[in-house]
Amino acid sequence: QPVTMLVANEKPNIKILMVSMALQGHINPTLNFAKRLISKGIHVTIATTEDGGNRMLKHTDKISSDSGIKLEFFSDGLSVDFDRSDTKTFLNTIQEKGPQNLSNLITNLTKNETFSCAIVNPFVPWAIDVVAEHEIPCALLWIQASTLYSIYYRYFKNNDLFPKLDVPNEKVQLPGLPVLEVKDLPSLLLPSSPLHYKELMAYFIKALDKVEWVLGASFLEIEEEIVKSMDSLTPIYPIGPLVSPFLLGEKETSNVSVDMWNAEDACIGWLDNKPNSSVIYISFGSLVVLSQTQMNNIVTALKNSNKNFLWVVKPANNGGYETKDAAYELPKEFLKETEGRGLVVKWCAQEKVLMHPAVACFLSHCGWNSTLETLITGVPVICWPSWLDQPTNAMLIENVFRNGVKVNYGEDGVASVKEIERCIREVMEGPNAGEIKKRAMEIKDSARKALEEDGSSSNNFNQFISELIVKNN
Ligand code: UDP
Repeated sequence: QPVTMLVANEKPNIKILMVSMALQGHINPTLNFAKRLISKGIHVTIATTEDGGNRMLKHTDKISSDSGIKLEFFSDGLSVDFDRSDTKTFLNTIQEKGPQNLSNLITNLTKNETFSCAIVNPFVPWAIDVVAEHEIPCALLWIQASTLYSIYYRYFKNNDLFPKLDVPNEKVQLPGLPVLEVKDLPSLLLPSSPLHYKELMAYFIKALDKVEWVLGASFLEIEEEIVKSMDSLTPIYPIGPLVSPFLLGEKETSNVSVDMWNAEDACIGWLDNKPNSSVIYISFGSLVVLSQTQMNNIVTALKNSNKNFLWVVKPANNGGYETKDAAYELPKEFLKETEGRGLVVKWCAQEKVLMHPAVACFLSHCGWNSTLETLITGVPVICWPSWLDQPTNAMLIENVFRNGVKVNYGEDGVASVKEIERCIREVMEGPNAGEIKKRAMEIKDSARKALEEDGSSSNNFNQFISELIVKNN
């Protein structure tokens, strides 16, 4: 019978184990997917690292009782107070100790329940081996753009497609994509990147042989050629945009949240008092911290532009990716000068901000979660990419999706005041601003359609569930 019938008619007695690191950008899509699964009556257990557990502790009393999501923790092998911004030690240790610790946890859990499937994300590739040892079928939740999946896959399986990667402007021609430059590729492939990130991704591509389904957080319509180009290799099935039920106007099925910092609610009231499409929202996600020089240039550009702005400046020592002269505070005189038209917060409810009519555009580091959140809300983007997948996401936004512009950095890696002013003008009032907003709204529409009944993402999701049901019977 048709897949949709199968899903609608059955009350599946399915239990799924999800495994993720506790980083904000990894746990958010894991949770969003878990919420979608429990809305179908599926039971979900999320296994994540204890350091994340400490952060989530304030939510755990509510989690098992009324959310349908069970949280379980395993040790990453490091002490609570270890500084995990030492990513090399962190990744080496979790890769060495994580498998046994996760395996012990699964042994314990499976004394009382049977998992139909495990859903793992690519940044814990060793978990694919662990669940295989426990004979649990494995699905992969690819939490970045499908484009990145294709790039990594091709790089590690057929390196001949790539030129030498030490020349930033060298051309790269890959199936399903416009001609790229080396600097548009994910930074972990470049010689300048520490080797441990690249090794992690190489591990993941090898482990893919043990994966039965590759589900993508993106949606087909936005990356159709790329997705099709993978069909004859190891196909990816997009089920996104994988964002929270809130952004889709759906009822929250669970009150679980795992924010690194408490969101400052006052910014929503502040936005309420601003005219429609008048505010630049600025945030660099949970890890990236700007250098003092970069921050100063944004300060000057904002002063000159005379626009309203809401800026997230994270607290110090967040264990993230930091440049040498990392900046955590804005100059006092700037704050005074822009009082009323500018608000600076340490963390915000980004989804609520992006849904707010006062927001005109998002100056973003282009993390994939933030990018999906702009696509589903129709907010134009000023791309300020730093590392990992961000340069590729920024290329997609400017050249493929065309819902934003990318800042060009100078030879010193810094965007000048003039360049930032150009980008603000371009998305807010220049001759292209209307076209960019129109594209953003078209994408918003197609993103929502993908998730509607019979939409591309709904069909992929239902296909996955029905295959699980069949496997379970
Ligand atoms: N986020 C938030 N409040 C903020 C900044 C970010 O809730 O002030 C959320 C944002 O909505 C997104 C996530 O944190 O879901 C960041 O993930 P992303 O992949 O964009 O970037 P990362 O933090 O992994 O670099």
